[in-house]
Amino acid sequence: MFTDPFGLKADTVEYASSAVKKGAEGCAQASKTCAQQLSALQNDPSKWLVKFGSLPGHRTGNTNTQGYANQVTGGTITIDPSHFGVASKDLGVTVNFNTTFGHELGHANGNIEIANTTGSLGPMNHCDEKCANIVENKVRTELGLPLLTPKP
Ligand SMILES: [Zn+2]
Repeated sequence: MFTDPFGLKADTVEYASSAVKKGAEGCAQASKTCAQQLSALQNDPSKWLVKFGSLPGHRTGNTNTQGYANQVTGGTITIDPSHFGVASKDLGVTVNFNTTFGHELGHANGNIEIANTTGSLGPMNHCDEKCANIVENKVRTELGLPLLTPKP
């Protein structure tokens, strides 16, 4: 059984490895927004897997959201730590597990919220980059890191 320092129930987020679980817990400890986002995902009935994996290009994170009958049923969040360095160079700001995981949690929770409030999810109707960057920048602010884009 999973327990965390915040005393939150966690039964819908699984981790593919103890290493990625440790990263997620570290993000929640370092950032209030990360903790809130992780808690929201843990408490949503949709089923999620968080894993390390290889991503194309210079991507550090990816969220694959699955749905059925206009509801989010779950998905997979993949983090590729081997791209943190090159992504930092591309973007001109620090990119690490916490900034990436915060961003991907933003996509996941944003998609759930949009599906729940609008009854659909699609290419024109989802938590896009702008949406996820808002969450990422909250994490960045809490960690004392430069923002990805000018503050909205
Ligand atoms: Zn994104």
